[in-house]
Amino acid sequence: VQAVVLSDGERIACDRVLVGIGAVPEDRLGRDAGLACEDGVVVDAQGATSAERVWVAGDMTCRCVEGSEARRRLESIPSATEQARQVAAAIAGASSPAPEVPWFWSDQFELKLQICGLLGGEDAVTARGDPAADRFALFHTAAGRLIAVEAVNSPRDFMAGKTLLRERRPVDLHRLGDESVSLRELVAA
Ligand SMILES: Cc1cc2nc3c(=O)[nH]c(=O)nc-3n(C[C@H](O)[C@H](O)[C@H](O)COP(=O)(O)OP(=O)(O)OC[C@H]3O[C@@H](n4cnc5c(N)ncnc54)[C@H](O)[C@@H]3O)c2cc1C
Repeated sequence: VQAVVLSDGERIACDRVLVGIGAVPEDRLGRDAGLACEDGVVVDAQGATSAERVWVAGDMTCRCVEGSEARRRLESIPSATEQARQVAAAIAGASSPAPEVPWFWSDQFELKLQICGLLGGEDAVTARGDPAADRFALFHTAAGRLIAVEAVNSPRDFMAGKTLLRERRPVDLHRLGDESVSLRELVAA
């Protein structure tokens, strides 16, 4: 790569390009169909749109999720599959599955990244593990409650954090940061 050329003809010399995909939702299909759209197709917890008997799931939707009052888009495979289950239950007239804590995973070469909850508004971040060894987890808390976990090659910490998040229990930050206390103990407490 030598340069990128913008739509107005400006040429910017560069030797690397980082491509960000999906920042703007392509919700034209929904708009053309007359569905309420606001940064994506607006849906409720069951994927129902503003039109009767029309449901939408996946990246294209904008909805309230666990841990956030405001509607937002979540672009991840777990979110799309969670919504698919919700929509299938709604269409079949079955009871709705419980809403999931938002979560995300990605395998980047030797790193397994797992994130649950929503970042933002934290007043403390407690680390467990060893960042130098690429195996650690960061627990984001606000007023003593867990709001998000970011884990790198630490699936057990991630799973324990996801349970704590789902149960919305206060956490003891001192014990959370004390690696002699197993997270299994904290979850069971
Ligand atoms: C580069 C990249 C890396 C990613 N990595 C991760 C990751 O590591 N982990 C993770 O959780 N998520 C990841 N994601 C996000 C994940 O892929 C999406 O959240 C997920 O695929 C959304 O599912 P979806 O069904 O909403 O949309 P999609 O999987 O995009 O499916 C939409 C389908 O609709 C079809 N379509 C579109 N318009 C029309 C039309 N008019 N008529 C008929 N068909 C149509 C498309 O061809 C497509 O097949 C990544 C995304 C990208 C782009």
